[in-house]
Amino acid sequence: MKFDPLLKKCPLCDSASISLKYNIIQSHNFNVYECQSCLFIFMNPAFSDTFIASLYSDDYYSGKAGFSYIDERENHKFNSYVWKARIKKIHKYKKSGTFLDIGCSFGGLLSSAQKYYDVYGVEISDFASRYCKSIDLKVHNGTLNDAPFKENSFDVITMIELIEHIKDPVNFIKKTASILKPGGLCVIQTADMGAYQAVSQAHNYHYYLPGHLSYFSACNLSSLLTKSGFANIRIYRPVDFGLIPKLRKSRGQFKNLKDYKRWLTIAKYHFLGYFKKKGRPMTSSMVIYAFKK
Ligand SMILES: [Zn+2]
Repeated sequence: MKFDPLLKKCPLCDSASISLKYNIIQSHNFNVYECQSCLFIFMNPAFSDTFIASLYSDDYYSGKAGFSYIDERENHKFNSYVWKARIKKIHKYKKSGTFLDIGCSFGGLLSSAQKYYDVYGVEISDFASRYCKSIDLKVHNGTLNDAPFKENSFDVITMIELIEHIKDPVNFIKKTASILKPGGLCVIQTADMGAYQAVSQAHNYHYYLPGHLSYFSACNLSSLLTKSGFANIRIYRPVDFGLIPKLRKSRGQFKNLKDYKRWLTIAKYHFLGYFKKKGRPMTSSMVIYAFKK
């Protein structure tokens, strides 16, 4: 079956006042619903787990599928500017200890995190996790639910553009909280669907993708974290580091001098993240830091 049964309640707050928001027409069409109570947006009916697994075949990771991940290994040097900048920020809060990246793909962030931490990964793709193992990273090939981690075992858990892929975010965040040590840091990057960019672009917003099941706002994600035992929640916009690492990363895709013009677009997008329009943050990019109580 391609789809799960249609949900009658919000998977985030259990409210029954949910309604169809958009019909997304793409390579695989789907509907998203919105909860009137907490404004959570979710694919409904959701694609079944077997169908989702077929989206993340080896072709997805090797760039051969129609809807593909960009293979970060090809641009490791350039991508690592961003990974190092993020680790530098995390290091301000946690000096050492155990570090878990959920959805670690080819282990780029983990490679940078090794400077300070004992690192672990979770990766659903067999293809990407095999690569991680080949470079001696400790990676569980599967999901967080079937990973063998004990309670209170991590100082830092990161999930970079991962939570939007999760079907049951309530239990996922509960599980994350349980394996973090008290005082441990959780770092989440996803789009803020309450921001002006997402609201104004409506169904054309690029975050609506067949692999994305859960669409949060800064508000409902913060409230999920609070309910799950987190405190001291900080929201960084557009991201948790400055513009320079992004510019250095982008050079990995440049082919000639003219491509440097793209720096203007990147810089503009970055700075818009600091401003509001009609009471909403202008861009949807956000990174949340939350500490387990
Ligand atoms: Zn809700």
